[in-house]
Amino acid sequence: MTRVTRYTVAMRPSAPGSTVPSPDRSPPAPATSPAIDLLADWDRRHVWHAFTQMQEYEPLLIESGQGAWLVDTAGNRYLDGSASMWCNVHGHRHPRLDAALAVQAAKVAHTTNLGLSNPTTVEFARRLVEVTPPGLEKVFFSGDGSSAVEAALKIAFQYWRQATRPEPDRTRFIAIGEAYHGDTLGSIGVGGVDRFTSLFAPLTFAAIRLPSPGGPCPATGRPAPTLDESLAALERILDEHRGTVAALVMEPLVQMAAGIYVHPPGFLRGVRELTARHGVLLILDEVATGFGRTGTLFACEQEQVAPDFLCLAKGLTAGYMPMAATLTTARIWDAFLGPHGDRRTFFHGHTYGGNPLAAAVGLASLDVFREDRVLESLPPKITRLHEHAERLGRLDHVGAVRQCGLVAGLDLVADKATGRAYPWQEKRGTRACLAARQHGVLLRQLGDVVVIMPPLCVTLDEIDRLAAAAEAGIRAATAEGPGSDRDA
Ligand code: PMP
Repeated sequence: MTRVTRYTVAMRPSAPGSTVPSPDRSPPAPATSPAIDLLADWDRRHVWHAFTQMQEYEPLLIESGQGAWLVDTAGNRYLDGSASMWCNVHGHRHPRLDAALAVQAAKVAHTTNLGLSNPTTVEFARRLVEVTPPGLEKVFFSGDGSSAVEAALKIAFQYWRQATRPEPDRTRFIAIGEAYHGDTLGSIGVGGVDRFTSLFAPLTFAAIRLPSPGGPCPATGRPAPTLDESLAALERILDEHRGTVAALVMEPLVQMAAGIYVHPPGFLRGVRELTARHGVLLILDEVATGFGRTGTLFACEQEQVAPDFLCLAKGLTAGYMPMAATLTTARIWDAFLGPHGDRRTFFHGHTYGGNPLAAAVGLASLDVFREDRVLESLPPKITRLHEHAERLGRLDHVGAVRQCGLVAGLDLVADKATGRAYPWQEKRGTRACLAARQHGVLLRQLGDVVVIMPPLCVTLDEIDRLAAAAEAGIRAATAEGPGSDRDA
């Protein structure tokens, strides 16, 4: 068996003006070396990549990063156009975030939060309570976005059994069409992206589905319902299922994984009013929308909505560490108090919940938001992205463009006049993103939607580069024939 105990990788020199550091290893090496080839081979053989058909997987090993840039093992530089799966906020290797990690690591890397605590995690919980909408005072930590949603679902379910006036018939959940809330069984129960979840339907529960007002219905191709239609439909659902719904779960303002489905203004507010009127708890999943993505720290601020549960992950640690949080109110928390024998405890937890390293970097990220006035820096970037998105929307095979804050989705279509989709087997979105790599940009598609979602620290010039590469990728992928019949 071949075994290497050590490998060396040299990077190509940075381009002038680049924010990527100069190589600190010399001399420059060829683009590939036997050690790198070996790693690529191990990657192909041993690492089961998420959402990836491993039979077709082509390794790309990212070795370092700086700001909005990533560098692969061959020294190629790429703009991180998907914010490393929608979570990076202030850029890679941010000095203050790196320092916060080092300081915490010098104290302790991990202690359990099952019945114990640590100062950094406590401080972080307190800061989260301060920066989130009023009423959210209790923080349940877990490790990823799916777990944050699962915790909210389970707490909501248990709450109705233990409330001062129990309503144990409230066992169901309402979710939005094409919703995505993660991949664990509970979160796919409320998820509605059928191509991900339908296989597993027998393993989980079925949510009551409200058609999304944010995008065309993929099943029917019909346009999205209007604001009034949506709220009227929700009212009908709430009437029909009176007394049996525990909570409604949704992403506020924009459904990311659905394909950047942007809700009409007033939808969130309307949902809050209707759920409150029907005594249904509101769970907002801000795993993807939180921490500045939509232009405000949390999307729900834009419609002055305070939910009963707020689920956070991804940008919670600025994209540095796996951590999630489910915030809720004193009303919910109180229903879980009582002597041990009452069995009111929330019997649920994760080994790394409240991890101090993650909390340290999360705290430092909130400092950076404040001290560097990150939110104030966003409007010109959002405008620049908008200008590009409009222009890209005029391409022959871009059927629609949707944007919310610093994220845009471009729908690739076979026929712009009719909106006819490409056969999904042709993987046009994937091909566009792969072609964009040739232009030094990493993008990630959602089916045939090309998504531009850079870290918030991206500069205007970098947005120009992202858009240029997206355009080149889209042109290349839509100029070609059907291509091979592979999985999307
Ligand atoms: N909710 C939303 C809105 C998401 O976008 C995601 C992940 N993309 C999740 C939940 C699940 O988060 P994780 O991948 O960390 O489990």
